[in-house]
Amino acid sequence: MFFFIAVVSGREELGLRRCGRFPCCGTVGATAPVTCVFQRFILFFIPLFRFGRRYFVSCPNCGAVYEIEPEEGRRIERDPAAEIDPERMHRVSSGRAANFCPNCGSPVPLDARYCPRCGTRL
Ligand SMILES: [Zn+2]
Ligand SMILES: [Zn+2]
Repeated sequence: MFFFIAVVSGREELGLRRCGRFPCCGTVGATAPVTCVFQRFILFFIPLFRFGRRYFVSCPNCGAVYEIEPEEGRRIERDPAAEIDPERMHRVSSGRAANFCPNCGSPVPLDARYCPRCGTRL
């Protein structure tokens, strides 16, 4: 029996969330776009469950990108009124990251040719 199983990465915009404070530039009380990156099994072109969810938020003022801890990410995904706890997000990019690696989902700088994490050519 032949099974067609693939793993693809996906990306979902969760919308704006309020963030207490962005340490990068001291922006306080701003709302910022949150992105969820995930991997998904595909079986016979039917999307199955998602796994490996990671959450990112970028500073609306200077563009610095932070990865949100998974637990905190799930909390703010469920609750659109939730505020991101600045203690639970970690900076992953100093400048504007407009791209996400198609393989591992890491944010990559606009001018990068290879993903700094997994080496995938962009
Ligand atoms: Zn900033
Ligand atoms: Zn990568």
